[in-house]
Amino acid sequence: MRNQQAVQLLFEQSRPGCRGVQLPACDVPERPLEELLPKNLLADRAPPLPELSEPDVVRHYVNLSQWNMSVDTHFYPLGSCTMKYNPKRNDRLASLPGFSDLHPYQPVETLQGILALLFQAQEMLAEIAGLPAVSLQPSAGAHGELTALLVAAAYFRDIGQKRTTVLIPDVAHGTNPASAAMAGFRIVPIPSTSQGLVDLEALGKHLDEQTAVFMITNPNTLGLFEPNIARICQMVHQVGGLIYLDGANMNAMMGVTRPGDFGADMMHFNPHKTFSTPHGAGGPGAGPIAVSERLAPYLPSPIVVRTETGYRLDDDRPKSIGRVRSFLGNVGVLLRMVCYLLTHGPDGLRQVTEQAVLNANYLLARLRGILPVPYGDRCMHEFVASAARLKAERNISAMEIAKRLLDHGFYAPTVYFPLIVKEALMIEPTETESKATLDAFVEAIERILQEPAELLHEAPHTTPISRPDEVQAARQPILRWQTR
Ligand SMILES: *Cc1c(COP(=O)(O)O)cnc(C)c1O
Repeated sequence: MRNQQAVQLLFEQSRPGCRGVQLPACDVPERPLEELLPKNLLADRAPPLPELSEPDVVRHYVNLSQWNMSVDTHFYPLGSCTMKYNPKRNDRLASLPGFSDLHPYQPVETLQGILALLFQAQEMLAEIAGLPAVSLQPSAGAHGELTALLVAAAYFRDIGQKRTTVLIPDVAHGTNPASAAMAGFRIVPIPSTSQGLVDLEALGKHLDEQTAVFMITNPNTLGLFEPNIARICQMVHQVGGLIYLDGANMNAMMGVTRPGDFGADMMHFNPHKTFSTPHGAGGPGAGPIAVSERLAPYLPSPIVVRTETGYRLDDDRPKSIGRVRSFLGNVGVLLRMVCYLLTHGPDGLRQVTEQAVLNANYLLARLRGILPVPYGDRCMHEFVASAARLKAERNISAMEIAKRLLDHGFYAPTVYFPLIVKEALMIEPTETESKATLDAFVEAIERILQEPAELLHEAPHTTPISRPDEVQAARQPILRWQTR
């Protein structure tokens, strides 16, 4: 059978709803497989796969899943990551066969349902951002940063301006400078004031006709809303630069204020943080971006558009930076986001923000007596405590408190970030936790700080793995099926 026919047959068999839908011709060469693969890659005998029964496999994966802590099993105050509870209905919706059985090469006339939802997603994100044009393509927040910076570069090229620098506060997430470097810009760090806010004087000194973009996270990674944000945007615009808003902290802003309203020209969303989708260990995610009118022509292609005859993928955008990802983006994550947005509605989203900020301030007020919080006496949806005094007085580090929390039945806060706080513990409770859980967390920290320091030096004591060499584990992971 010819390859094209085989692909068509497989497609129709696996998706009964699509019988009769003709796939476009794919350009797989019509040659026997042996000719397509290099000889040295062809196996000469069957691979030594483990012979396992179904119960063996089930037990392996169920046991593995229980080695981990997750939002479904434990409180997970991992600052900056917004580890909120993700309603299961979002997973169920995204797995409906009408979505999960779609084939990326189906003709758009047969994709009208999904395109309608993605169009709606673009509209809703534009409304929340206060910025009119949206691309759903980027695969994660970091990818959204890179995409938006490429959009900015294309814009400056198009208007004939050579701008080479991206300014970034010293409290920024590491992805900000990484994205700017990947997009070909020179990075200029901007220091923070003793209050943990952007140092306006330093910013002013570095702003010039070379400035392309100022990347700002608001509320910042210390959990503080930048009170001078409008002034900052004005200063950057005055020299012809653009404002990029890192939207990872939208959980503290939705429905209360909009980045476009305070002066941002572009931003990314992290749907896996703000709008549900269980995430961790690097995925899965998405990183839609929203931009102002003048940047819209440069957004990645295609964009979902509505016409009189239905929805269409608009590819005819000559100034676009092109594709940054295959097909329509990470649709599974985007569908969970649509479900989340529609079930909450505008008032619900505002309530999410208010509750997230209230929860964080409750924790801050209860914890600051035992773990000092160097920046801010109120916070937005998260705050950063410091174990520097404990380190000096009792040789107990932030990492040891974090590790010991695992023994007490809590996932650890983010540690050693942002860099300007010594022995940092970055705590984000999110809106989905009860007062009882927050109280139990405070009491666990109180108990831990009364324990002998030796107990903390070796913690955790109750987890299947205690202290792996994290760098080696990331670089040389052992992926054998049986590890015991
Ligand atoms: C999570 C995060 C990012 C990066 O987002 P990913 O989706 O993990 O790529 C960027 N900035 C901040 C402040 C973040 O918390």
